[in-house]
Amino acid sequence: MSFEDYRGVWVFIEEKEGQIAPVSLELLGAGRRLADKRGDELAGILIGDQITALADTVFEYGADTVYTYDSPIFKHYRTETFMKALLACTEKYKPEIILYGATSTGKDLASAVATDLPTGLTADTTILDVEEDTGLLLASRPAFGGNIMATILCKKYRPQMATVRPKVMKALSPEPGRRGKLIEESIPLKEEEVRTKVLEIVRDTVKQVRIDEADIIVAGGKGLGSPSGFQLIHQLADVLGAAVGGSRDVVEAGWIEHHHQVGQTGVTVTPKIYFAIGISGAIQHIVGMQNSGLIIAINKDPNAAIFQACHHGIVGDAFEIVPMLIEQFNHAWN
Ligand code: FAD
Repeated sequence: MSFEDYRGVWVFIEEKEGQIAPVSLELLGAGRRLADKRGDELAGILIGDQITALADTVFEYGADTVYTYDSPIFKHYRTETFMKALLACTEKYKPEIILYGATSTGKDLASAVATDLPTGLTADTTILDVEEDTGLLLASRPAFGGNIMATILCKKYRPQMATVRPKVMKALSPEPGRRGKLIEESIPLKEEEVRTKVLEIVRDTVKQVRIDEADIIVAGGKGLGSPSGFQLIHQLADVLGAAVGGSRDVVEAGWIEHHHQVGQTGVTVTPKIYFAIGISGAIQHIVGMQNSGLIIAINKDPNAAIFQACHHGIVGDAFEIVPMLIEQFNHAWN
C-alpha cells in the first residue's frame, strides 16, 4: 500500500427523506479544515435515490467534489448496498480520510466498510486534527470511562476512518452558489442480489420533543428515587415545552428509554437551557451536556460534582423545588 496514492478528505453525506443530516454538514466544516491543512480536496459522498440535487448543498457547505450513487436501489439505507457503493468509490479514488456521523446509519456503515477494507476505524470521535506533512489523522475521543482523552492513530493503513459525534463540530456558513466537481458513479448491483428488503417503515409516533433538537431539556437522575418520582421531570418538561433527558442510571433502571440518555454513551446535546435534577454530575454525563447555553442544577448534596459544571445551582430537595418551579412557570405562562 503506497500512502502517496491516497489523497483527500471525504465525508459520507447522510440523507433521509430528501434532507441532509445536520451532522454531515458539521463534518464538511471539520473536513474542510483538515483538507486545507493538507492542501487537498474535500469531497462529499452522496448515496440515495434522486439525491443528485443535494450535491449543490454539499458544495455550498465546503466540498470541492461530490461523488453520487443515485439509484432506486439506494432508496432506503441498507448496509449491503451502501457499503458496496462506498467500497467501490474508495477503491477507485483512494481517499486519505473518510468521516462519518456517529449516528445509527453512520456507525453501521463505517463499521461494515471497516470490516472489508484493511484499515481501522475510530468510533465516536470528538476532536479531529491532521498532521500537515504526513496526513496522519489525529482522532480523539473520551476513553477509560471518560477520564482521559485518547488520540487514536492509524499509522499503517489507508484510508483512515472515523465516526464523529453529532453537534461537536461546527458547520461552515453556506456559500450560496458555490459549486464544484460532480462525479456520478454507479455499481452493477441488481435488487434481486440484495439480501435485505425494506418491507415497511414504521414511524415513531411518540409525541415528544427530541433531545438532540430541543432548545430546553429537563434531565433527571437517580436522585428522583423511583419511576413515579421521575414523573416530576416530565411535568416540568411539559410546562416548559422541553424535552426530557436522563442519566445512564435512570435509563438502566428502566425509568426512561435509552434515546433520552445524555452523555458519553448517550446523546450529546447543546440546548439553550439544560436542567440537571438529581444528577450527580459524573464526567460521563457532563461530556454530553457541557456545551449547553445555560445549565441549571438542582441537587441536595452541596458537594455534588454537577455544581462545578453548572451556571446556576440550587442546593435542595427536588421534591420541594421542582413543584415550586412548575407552579411559577405555569403562573408565568398563563
Ligand atoms: P447518582 O450518581 O446516583 O446521583 C444521584 C444524585 O441525586 C446525587 O448527586 C444525589 O445527591 C442527588 N439526590 C438524591 N436525592 C435527591 C433529591 N431528593 N433532590 C435532589 N437531588 C437528590 N452516565 C450518564 O449519565 N450518561 C452516560 O452516557 C454515561 N456513560 C457512561 C459510560 C461509561 C463507560 C461509564 C463507566 C459510566 C457511564 N455513565 C454515564 C454513568 C456515570 O458514571 C454515573 O454513574 C451516572 O451518570 C450517575 O447517574 P445519576 O447522576 O443519575 O445517579
